[in-house]
Amino acid sequence: MFEVTIEESFAAGHALRNYKGKCENVHGHNYRCQVTLEGAELDHIGLLVDFVELKKVVHAVLDRMDHQWLNDFPPFDKLNPSAENMAKFIFDEVRSGLSEKRGVRVSAVKLWETDTASATYRG
Ligand SMILES: [Zn+2]
Repeated sequence: MFEVTIEESFAAGHALRNYKGKCENVHGHNYRCQVTLEGAELDHIGLLVDFVELKKVVHAVLDRMDHQWLNDFPPFDKLNPSAENMAKFIFDEVRSGLSEKRGVRVSAVKLWETDTASATYRG
């Protein structure tokens, strides 16, 4: 299997519902997001996926969340905007934005809230 990974960042605010502690209060993060694709076959020039194409898709997803108040941003107006739920949301959005080619698929989305804390969703 080959894997290709890109990283992008965005800033957003949230407050965790039903959480007892500092994170129930309004605060923001500079999120860092790592998206990994996997596949067994390369194209005729030896690429699993064009980084430019992948970055375009990931950017389109993250741009919608950049500088937003996540608690008003569907589905996080109902679903808690935890790093875990956000990683799955980004995974699903990137998957639906990518054209399926040669069995290349999203394998994981890792989302850092801080330099030392991240959540990962794997498909
Ligand atoms: Zn937080």
